[in-house]
Amino acid sequence: MITAAIIAVGSELMRGKIDDTNSTFFTRWFEKLGIKVKYRVNVADIGSEIVSAMRYCHDADILITTGGLGPTKDDLTRIAAAEYAGKELVFFPMLWKKIEAYLKTKKYPHYESNKQQAYLWDGVEVMDNSCGTAPGLFYKKNRQIVALLPGPPNENRIMAENQLLPRLEKYKLIQGKFFTDVVRVYRIGESGIADLFAKQDDGYFDIGYYFSNDGYTELHFRRFSEDGTKPSDFDKNVKACKKLLTDNAVFFTEDKPIEQIVYEALLEKKKTVSFAESCTGGKISSTFVKTAGVSQVYAGGVVSYTVEMKQKILGVTKDTIAQYGVVSAQTVKEMARGIKNITGSNIALSVSGTAGPGSDAEGNPAGLVWFGLDIDGTTEEFSVQFSGMKREQVIQKAVNQAFIAILQKLK
Ligand code: ATP
Repeated sequence: MITAAIIAVGSELMRGKIDDTNSTFFTRWFEKLGIKVKYRVNVADIGSEIVSAMRYCHDADILITTGGLGPTKDDLTRIAAAEYAGKELVFFPMLWKKIEAYLKTKKYPHYESNKQQAYLWDGVEVMDNSCGTAPGLFYKKNRQIVALLPGPPNENRIMAENQLLPRLEKYKLIQGKFFTDVVRVYRIGESGIADLFAKQDDGYFDIGYYFSNDGYTELHFRRFSEDGTKPSDFDKNVKACKKLLTDNAVFFTEDKPIEQIVYEALLEKKKTVSFAESCTGGKISSTFVKTAGVSQVYAGGVVSYTVEMKQKILGVTKDTIAQYGVVSAQTVKEMARGIKNITGSNIALSVSGTAGPGSDAEGNPAGLVWFGLDIDGTTEEFSVQFSGMKREQVIQKAVNQAFIAILQKLK
């Protein structure tokens, strides 16, 4: 399998001033081409360190760098690449003419410093930069292909597509393809899933786990096909993995935002929904309305944060609060009924819990959340204890749980 190394050059990266989105982008880019990323390295704008990074990545078939091709003194990637190649940089007047012409069309002033971008060596191919002055460079060092790309994402992505890709094809570095099926799993951590699949891992899939800030884990079932065609047993194996999740009561969905799946299910079943929220502070509603067209299924919601609001707006009784407390089955039951009475929706979901970090005034532990569901007059309540999580995570998990509960009822 063809391998690649990505070196993102830039002192800003090493000081944490910018995120290295280039490496993420190019990792995905290579993956789509069936090329395995073997190394990802970040390095400052220090010549000797860039050379070391390049030497470290010597055994990848393809080595790309991003950044450090500009006209200023600290743009040292070209110089480092020459050292790595064991070559002397030479001024190429034709290339300088091209750069000058670009500066002219953009009406940029001519800076002497731009001249250093016209230094390369024989055997290097220039990759035109349609969006900036720094040309990309492409050369072969023994068995390795080296491509230097500019740092700005808008410049390097288009250069990769239009200039690098045809060269990779020319050098027959694009063979085969990854086939991937992605699911989102909820209510189980990465280690839980890893344990689950460890039992049945027969090496067919290269399984990737990616934790999302939105409180789920993306599970990638990937299989490489050398000849680029989908393996005939791919679907069968995906099915077996999904069955393993189902058999172990792991809730999962296709690779789509859960709120969108809820919207589609409601639309299909011709049902409407409303929310009465407390600890989630309106996040269930605000997440739900991200989906275009949601007004067809979403009646509305209220954020009833205080006891008074729960009583005045939703009609939760004083007795209920006094007897059972705010975070209780009885309260969420009345909250759901209350919002349903106001909106007339088919389904009403309510949530009341203790987001933390500490326990609440009633002594409920942080992370305890009660959910109420009223579906066409039938009510149901349940609680979940989210443990070891920060406040925002408890809120996010409660939002996800609300959507999961609705989906399970719509099945
Ligand atoms: P230029 O001549 O346009 O400056 P360059 O190749 O010298 O190009 P850098 O100076 O290293 O590129 O970076 C220019 C800008 O590109 C940075 O200020 C940053 O905004 C963006 N950039 C650089 N590296 C990365 C990276 N790894 N991920 C995301 N953005 C980056």
